[in-house]
This record gives sequence, C-alpha cells and structure tokens, in this order.
Amino acid sequence: MSPPASTKVDLLIVGAGPAGLALANWFRGSNIKVLIVDKKPGPTPRGQAEGLKSTTNEIFDSYGIGPQVTAESWRLEEIACWGPRKDGGEGIVREQVIPDRVAELGKPRETMLQQSRVEHHMLHNILSHDNIEIRYSTAPISVDVDTSCVHEADTFPVSVSLEKVTTNTNTTIGDTTNGTNYHATNGHHINGQNGHQPDEHDAPSDKISAKYIVGCDGARSWLRKQLDVSMEGDLTDSVFGVVDMVPKSNFPDIRRVCYLRAASGTILLVPRSNKEVRMYIPVESGTALPDPKDLTFGRVMDAARKIIAPYTMEVGSVSWWSAYRVRQRVGNHFSRLNERAFLVGDAVHTHSPKAGQGMNTSIQDAYNLGWKLRLTLKGKVRSSGARQDLLRTYESERRPVALDLIAFDKGFLKLFAAPSAQFDTEILQALKFTTGLSIRYPPSCAVQLPKGIEQLGPSLLKADLVPGKRLPDFRVVYQADGVPTWMHKRLSATGQFRVMIFAGDISDSTASKRLHDVGKYLGESKSLKHVVMPQSEQEPLVEVLVVHCAERDLVDLLALPEVYRPWSDESGYDFWRVFADVESVHDGHGRAYERLEIDRQVGCTVVVRPDGYIGAVLEVDDVEGVERYFEGMNVS
Ligand code: FAD
Repeated sequence: MSPPASTKVDLLIVGAGPAGLALANWFRGSNIKVLIVDKKPGPTPRGQAEGLKSTTNEIFDSYGIGPQVTAESWRLEEIACWGPRKDGGEGIVREQVIPDRVAELGKPRETMLQQSRVEHHMLHNILSHDNIEIRYSTAPISVDVDTSCVHEADTFPVSVSLEKVTTNTNTTIGDTTNGTNYHATNGHHINGQNGHQPDEHDAPSDKISAKYIVGCDGARSWLRKQLDVSMEGDLTDSVFGVVDMVPKSNFPDIRRVCYLRAASGTILLVPRSNKEVRMYIPVESGTALPDPKDLTFGRVMDAARKIIAPYTMEVGSVSWWSAYRVRQRVGNHFSRLNERAFLVGDAVHTHSPKAGQGMNTSIQDAYNLGWKLRLTLKGKVRSSGARQDLLRTYESERRPVALDLIAFDKGFLKLFAAPSAQFDTEILQALKFTTGLSIRYPPSCAVQLPKGIEQLGPSLLKADLVPGKRLPDFRVVYQADGVPTWMHKRLSATGQFRVMIFAGDISDSTASKRLHDVGKYLGESKSLKHVVMPQSEQEPLVEVLVVHCAERDLVDLLALPEVYRPWSDESGYDFWRVFADVESVHDGHGRAYERLEIDRQVGCTVVVRPDGYIGAVLEVDDVEGVERYFEGMNVS
C-alpha cells in the first residue's frame, strides 16, 4: 500500500547496496525514522564484489552480524606469485608462496563472501526495526533543499518526489567501472540492462520531507547529478575481463590467490566457494584499446590461456562474467547544502575492482557518516555550528581516503600492466595498504591533538595508537569471567564513545589509586557525570572501559569506582567494562599492551569514537583532557 503523500522521515537513503545498507544499520534500535529507496525490484541477486577486509568484518561485528558473515566466508591464507621462466623459455613458473598476512592484524586480512550475501546479512539486521523502511522499485525523480532552514536542527528542508519503477527482471546492480554489465551463462553473452528502466509508472509520485538525504546510489549516482557534484579523474588504459567460473585446469595453484605474471599482462586469480575461481584477465588488442562492449567471453578466455600456458584452462561452468575499462574518479564534494545532503561509496569514488576495495570503502564511508548523523538526529550535538562541524568531517575524513585509494590503484594497475622486478615486495606493501591501517584522519572536533602531545610519554607516540587512526583491534579477557574477546567485537555500534583507560598493573598501589581517582572524577564531575553514568531509559553517551594488565585474582571488580561497573535496578552490575591483558584459558595471551606499545607502568587513556577511530590519546589520569574532548565535540 502506498504511504500517504509528504511522508516525513529523518533520513532518506537512496540506494540499498553495500553503502546504503551499512548506513541504515547505524539506526537500529533508535527512534530515528529512516527510509531507503532502491530502484531495483528486490535485494541484489548477485553483485560483483567479494573480498571483505578485516576492518569491514570488524564493522559487521559491531553491527552484531559478524558471526553470520564469518561463518559463510571463505578464508584466503596464501598468495602464490608466478612469473616468466628465468631461462628465457616459454611459460610461467611459481616464484614463491607468501602468507596472506599482515602481522599487525593478528587475524585474517581478507575473507571472501558474495556481495549479495553480505547485503543479505545487513538487510536482515534492519528488517525487524520499525523505524527503518525499505522500498524497492522506487526511485527519486526530483529533490529540493530549502536552504533558508538548513541551520535549524528540527527542520525538514529536503523535499523529494519518488516514483515507482518497473525494472527489467534481468537487473544487475550499478556498475563501478564503465557502466556496462553483462550476464553470461555457460559462455552465452546477454547484454544486461543496467538498472533503471522506468517504462511504467504504476503509482503516483510520493512526496517525502527529510532532514537529511544520502546518495548511496552507485557509480551513476542520480543524486550526485542533482547536487552538481562532478567526478574528477579519468578512464584508464586498462581493459579487463572478469570471470567467475568452475575451472577445469591442471594449474597447481588454482585454489590459492595467484598473481600470474606474463609478457601480455598479469592475471589475478582468487578462489571462491562452490569450486569456483574468479579471474581478472587483462585483454590486449594490438596497439588499440578494445572497447569492453566488443569483448566476447571467448576472447577473454583466450587471453587467460595465453598467460597461464603451458597449463590448461578449460571452462566447467560460468556463473558470471563481465568486461570493463576502469575509471578512477573522485567527487569534488562529498557533502552539499550545509551538510544536509551527502554522497557515499561508488557515488563519489570509483576505481579498479582488483584490489577489492570498492565495497569495503563504500561500507567504511557509510560507517563514518552514520554515527555523525545518528548523534545529530538524536539531538546530542548542542549547537548548529557544532552539528555542521561534525558533519563536515565526513568529507574531510573520507575524501582523502578516496584520493589515496585512487593513487594506490594507479600504482596497482601499473604493477599489473608492467610488473617490475620488485613485484612481490610491492604486492606485500599493497596488502598492507588495503587493510586501512595507514588511514589517519586529520585533526577536527572529533580528532583532537592536545597541545604538547609530543611531550607525553613515549607510549603515546607509537605508530598505531594516535588520534585519527582506527583503534587497532586486540584480544583481552573479561575481568569478571575470563572470557576472551576481541575489543572491536565489544564495541557495538550503539553510537557511544568509549573512554578506554589502559590503567597498567593495578595490583600496584600507585596505579590502583590513579585508577580510583580517575573513576571518582569521571563519575562525579559536573561536566561528565551525565554523559558517563547510565541515565534511566537512556544509554549514556560515553562508556568508560578499563583495560589493565594485573593478574585477575589481584583485582576486585566490585571495589572499583561505580563508573567502571555501574549498577542498574533492572540488571544489577555491568560486569562487561573491565578487561585484563592476561593469558586466557583456551585462546592464549592477546598481549594487548605489547601490540599497542603501551608502557605497563605509565598506561594511557584513549577516547574512542563510535566508529572505532581514536578521538584523543591522553595521559592515563588526564581527566581534564577527557572533558576538553567532549567540550570540543559540543555533545551532551
Ligand atoms: P552499488 O553497489 O552500486 O549500489 C547502488 C545501489 O543504488 C544499487 O542497489 C542500485 O540499484 C541503487 N540505485 C542506483 N541508482 C538509483 C536511483 N536513481 N534510485 C534508487 N536506487 C538507485 N569491491 C570490493 O570491496 N571487493 C571486491 O572484491 C570487489 N570486486 C568487484 C568486482 C567487479 C567486477 C566490480 C565491477 C566491482 C567490484 N567491487 C569490489 C566494487 C563493488 O562492487 C562496489 O564498489 C560496491 O558495490 C559499491 O557499493 P555502493 O553501495 O556504493 O554502490
């Protein structure tokens, strides 16, 4: 049944792909009204993306769907590098096999799961929440923003007209590359339609009034055009075929990730589930660049066979293939109209799919924006200026990430086109880049560098524990019961900040007194008490967590100040805020202090933002620093 005209929603999301669904997940369990519209007739039947980076998996953990996603995913453990024979003969030889591992992560760097399954889990996570509605076969046809009221928090300046869309059944989701998609079954080439086919309008336009609008509508974003955002960058000179198939091959590393380097280019081969592999195959055409539209499956496979020779490569069955020319482009703006309209994911950046970054970056963009909108829409940000400052950080944080990604992608494509002698080292460096460990957001209201940080203890200056970087994940055990946990699993996406006190060895009386003093101050301070202590019916804006490194039996949890183990009349003590960096019964020792390079005597306090990035790093007892952080954010 059509909803009444001029429906009011807090947030309108255009596009229910990875970005749109990841964004919507931030609003579970809130009273924020969200409408998602997508022109396709239903959930994505297939999608192109596969690889999930560990950071993305941590996001799924925080949304509570990590276990389901992990259970279905395929792990990538090894990478084989093949190159031309050294004796000048024809064919390729295995040069080395390297572990697909970035040591700092302490867990798999990448797992594989089909985009449609990834979307399935995100979709099912929101379906039971009444405040979130999703409408398929629906697209916006006009948008207006009343700029006269964009500064007032509770206004609905965005007016959108929607129309029902009848889509061809053969829908494929938005292309990230050249705008052309092909479906193929057993090698037959069917020219697929790309999404929107408004050949029938079976319902009158719906009018929506929204406080905010976010375009998650893919590489050919409709909203981007309405907002007059232009894409900067170019088409590359690389044309690829991508094939998902069951191979019949005598190539010995067919079940490993492989880089197959030959004179005519480099194939990237990635194992999938169901006996399938995915191959990214460069296609040459003498001196002229082939038009992807002209490529046939046979021609793509001929190019593959040439590279993989002397091994054979016959086709068992093909579930999908496509051909594309890569565009590397970034939008000149990520937000418009006084931060009332945003663009996320492929709508503002496209690049080669080979490094498996598109879906990951789109989900991570959405994760960055979501908590800021949630805080704003919940009325937690006190002034209009502060709201805008916070929402502006979406662009100032994520646009540089997209630009870096394009720069990386250019190098990555070159590496494929003309492999250098350092190919393997460069691949390893690339693997590190793709984890996102090097991302560091610039200073802002949400990333604060206290004056004199350089004078603080050496532990505060280590490479990974710095404001603007993601809190590296680490494993600790709960003080109360010794159960081990990864920290990001514990940091569920509730919109809360965490003040994480690395208190050191609190069996030592000095460290113990310090922790008590900090706890008493936080729980009683005029400016912080109401944000750190649970209020009736409302989760506090800030959770205070303690990670110590004393022996557990020397610590009495209930003797700690209340802020570390608050009491509620409904459920008694909160036992899940104090952690120990010690040996666990079954899973070994997480060595969190070593991993984070925190001095066990000195300790430190870290303000962690709702998205798991570090907002501030302070001396362990710098409670004024904590106050300053939240004053700077202007939240209550
Ligand atoms: P999309 O997935 O394009 O979703 C956009 C959604 O918006 C769609 O549901 C569409 O129907 C809807 N929409 C569009 N226009 C409108 C409109 N006007 N009104 C309403 N709805 C609209 N990424 C990885 O991370 N790992 C990989 O391994 C990987 N492999 C890839 C392999 C290939 C061959 C290709 C082409 C891409 C690959 N990618 C990969 C990239 C990845 O697919 C995209 O980056 C990702 O899907 C982008 O997500 P998104 O939500 O921003 O956009």
